[in-house]
Amino acid sequence: MEDAREALLVLDGLTKAFGDFVAVRDVRLDIRESEFFTLVGPSGSGKTTMIRMLVGMEQPTSGEIRLNGRVLNQVPANRRPTCMVFQDLALFPHKSVGENIEFPLKIAGVAPRVRRERASALLRQLRLPVDYYDKGVNQCSGGERQRIALARALAFDPQILFFDEPLAALDFRLRKTLEKELKDIHRETGKTFVYITHSLEEAMVMSDRIGIMKNGGLVQIGTPHEIYNRPVNKFVAQFMGEVNTLEVEAAGAHAVREVQGEGTFEVRDMPEHFTRGFLIIRPEVMKLGPAAAGAANTVSGRLFNDYALGSRVQYQVRSAGGAQWLVERLQDDPFEGASDGEVTLGWRPEDSILVSE
Ligand code: ADP
Ligand code: MG
Repeated sequence: MEDAREALLVLDGLTKAFGDFVAVRDVRLDIRESEFFTLVGPSGSGKTTMIRMLVGMEQPTSGEIRLNGRVLNQVPANRRPTCMVFQDLALFPHKSVGENIEFPLKIAGVAPRVRRERASALLRQLRLPVDYYDKGVNQCSGGERQRIALARALAFDPQILFFDEPLAALDFRLRKTLEKELKDIHRETGKTFVYITHSLEEAMVMSDRIGIMKNGGLVQIGTPHEIYNRPVNKFVAQFMGEVNTLEVEAAGAHAVREVQGEGTFEVRDMPEHFTRGFLIIRPEVMKLGPAAAGAANTVSGRLFNDYALGSRVQYQVRSAGGAQWLVERLQDDPFEGASDGEVTLGWRPEDSILVSE
């Protein structure tokens, strides 16, 4: 049955200009209750400006923000049922865990006994030991500090939590751990999370849906699976990581021709009215050497480089036509052919993505 209710948070043509410069352009987006929604985009794409409007730190130039059907544009930040978690977490380093969590309640004049009960309940909810109440925040680990910042953000029971790149400054290992923790906390609290990051990989791990931003506009909204398998354009496809990108034109109902003469390749799905665009093939679906024999699409070339990428090895191949190709294989399944040798690479039509722009 179609749900006629409006989504929890609706952005209706949201626009923000600073003078002549448009930082956020006509964004239309519905965020559902209990959803983990992530806005992803390169630096300068307008993510922070967008979230600042949503929490009330910035006035939209035009468009509407509605929460449960109520227009929020004129509601000041401290009157909105939302809360922001910043990159540096903004904890008071010399105060105890309890004082940090209770801080917003204290400002609001909540009685000490009530505050303490609420802080203890939040410690339990975020799986922190209740005796951390008196512990100094600077004695806590990075993961614990993140939980404390979340406990403080949850103190007022907000309807939506906003996060502006909270993990960006952390080292890789800790970030990977905290991404999963955040996803767990989201599930445990049942709250609506709106998260921003410049890392599509990070967004993939945590999000129910992702919105991709470029130059202030939303270019694609979808589940991680949809974004990965059906990127709408070259920008989204390349944002995920290194991919093979060929400029091609239509050459029949299920074929495209590379414009520099690299070859004609079979594809499974052609976008409607496709004439010219880009063929995208991920390095990990490419076959190399004997494994490529019999593939519907093949290119011959010379292997000239290999790089260990941890769990995978990346091979670089230069085709006879001069194009450079990337192929990746699992590290425990390396390609046995000679470096600087002739190789064939190949891929299946269904493993390529065709986009018009
Ligand atoms: P992101 O968070 O995606 O990196 P921002 O929203 O911070 O991007 O910035 C988007 C663009 O808006 C940038 O070009 C930035 O310089 C510009 N911008 C942000 N805030 C202001 C401001 N107060 N005045 C003028 N330009 C701004
Ligand atoms: Mg930002």
